[in-house]
Amino acid sequence: MTNVDVGWNAPLGERYDIVVIGGGIHGVCVTYEAARRGLSVLLLERKDFGSGTSSNSMKIVHGGLRYMQDFDFKRVIDSNREFRILQHIAPALVQPLSCQLDVRGRGVLFSLKFRSGLALYNAIAKFAARAVPSALDVPASHYPGWYDGIILDTEEFLLSYLHTAFREESGKVAFRNHVGDVTVMCREGRAVAVTTASTGPIEAGAIIECVGVAREGQPVGMAMNLIVDRLDLNAGAIARGFVHPHDGRSVFTVPWRDASIVGTFERSYSGDPREALSIDPEVIDEFLAWLAPVHAEFAKLTRGDVRFVHAGLLPKDAHESEELSRASKVDETEDGRIRVLGVKYTTSRALASQAIQRAATHLDKSVDDALDRLVPLISRSALVREFTAEYPKLSRPLAGGELTEGDVVFAVRHELAVDLTDVLFRRTRVANAGHPGDTLIHAVAGMMASLIGWTDSEKQKQIEQFEDDIHFTGGNIGTVVR
Ligand SMILES: Cc1cc2nc3c(=O)[nH]c(=O)nc-3n(C[C@H](O)[C@H](O)[C@H](O)COP(=O)(O)OP(=O)(O)OC[C@H]3O[C@@H](n4cnc5c(N)ncnc54)[C@H](O)[C@@H]3O)c2cc1C
Repeated sequence: MTNVDVGWNAPLGERYDIVVIGGGIHGVCVTYEAARRGLSVLLLERKDFGSGTSSNSMKIVHGGLRYMQDFDFKRVIDSNREFRILQHIAPALVQPLSCQLDVRGRGVLFSLKFRSGLALYNAIAKFAARAVPSALDVPASHYPGWYDGIILDTEEFLLSYLHTAFREESGKVAFRNHVGDVTVMCREGRAVAVTTASTGPIEAGAIIECVGVAREGQPVGMAMNLIVDRLDLNAGAIARGFVHPHDGRSVFTVPWRDASIVGTFERSYSGDPREALSIDPEVIDEFLAWLAPVHAEFAKLTRGDVRFVHAGLLPKDAHESEELSRASKVDETEDGRIRVLGVKYTTSRALASQAIQRAATHLDKSVDDALDRLVPLISRSALVREFTAEYPKLSRPLAGGELTEGDVVFAVRHELAVDLTDVLFRRTRVANAGHPGDTLIHAVAGMMASLIGWTDSEKQKQIEQFEDDIHFTGGNIGTVVR
């Protein structure tokens, strides 16, 4: 049996050191951080891995420049250090992103403050880099810009954490998706086990909830980005930032693939955060109207220019607050569940490490941050290549496009993909920047039908469900606007 023959569908054990509830980037990182410390760990996700807010990130790994304005130096150091750690563990996926802020028209005082902040930030960034073993050196920032990071493919990144965790402690690491809500079971007032509709009770040394905004009573807001054809503003692959002339918020346009991601627009949200997110197309018009005064190139954008929308829910500190929460936290309930509430993709691994250190006290084990033992993640695309090399017939391109048959077989056999949306959005990258085209959808559905055993009507239903999801009528994964 080769490495790639081991799928994630192995039978579950009866007890794990850690049971993680929720498979967004935070739950996935907790799983990875537990596995690399030799703990047994089970990850349970209600829908699919990365199908919540995590499918909507702007892809920026923040170095922490923005926290300079609050003089929050600890956060600057933590973010910057994390940026370098992520580059170290996933150098092909996390790349430096050259950023510039347009300070024109902001007045001399603003410009001066920004320049001094930037100089101090660069000094702190150099200091933060020292703390990380063998971190790649990010080129020095040049005025008026700086370097953040960009995760080229957030789906691949999330899956690579899971592949790495899975290989780390073979037999002691397990994942299940599409399990519905997970119920926590208590004994003598302590949370000790979990159960789902498809599994019996599973004992846990510690339970870590990473359910994002789905946690009880959590106030939420919505954040959105637009994907448009590559803007001239992003010439030279430079991300450009602006200060909104009316509300003072940051507006960024980030070069990504052949497109630009523009945002982030924030809005209140009154729906149930545990249900699929839905937005009205009029909100896109509001977004465009908000962008217009920022720059002439934004002012030219119309709804017809928008390829796709990424929108997701994020925590607020209070229902009445207009602002999204700025700080992540790890806390604990009275019955001993550890809860992770993260506000940034950037710091998810670091927050997960904190959660594991807290969980270790429940297990009577002591664990450190294990930074000196960080090694590069197993690359998901390398595994797929290895897999197709073993079964060369599967290297045939599907519908003449960028996917091979091997991509689909690998996703279904080895990564628990059960529906078309799992494969097209979250195992491969073909649908997360726009509609992948009917020919490819039908080819993938045909392959999945023969692998999973769908009847013709089930296959048709899957195609309809995917179309629903991508048009935002049923899922919070994105919307095709044209
Ligand atoms: C538009 C937008 C742009 C952003 N851009 C950036 C950026 O550029 N950089 C950055 O660092 N951050 C960014 N963020 C923030 C970042 O994306 C989020 O902080 C992060 O993805 C949240 O991850 P999570 O794991 O906490 O939540 P989620 O991804 O929502 O994961 C929670 C998971 O828990 C599951 N779940 C819920 N209840 C249960 C249950 N009872 N049982 C089992 N499973 C359950 C859900 O199905 C879901 O999969 C952005 C966010 C948005 C919305």
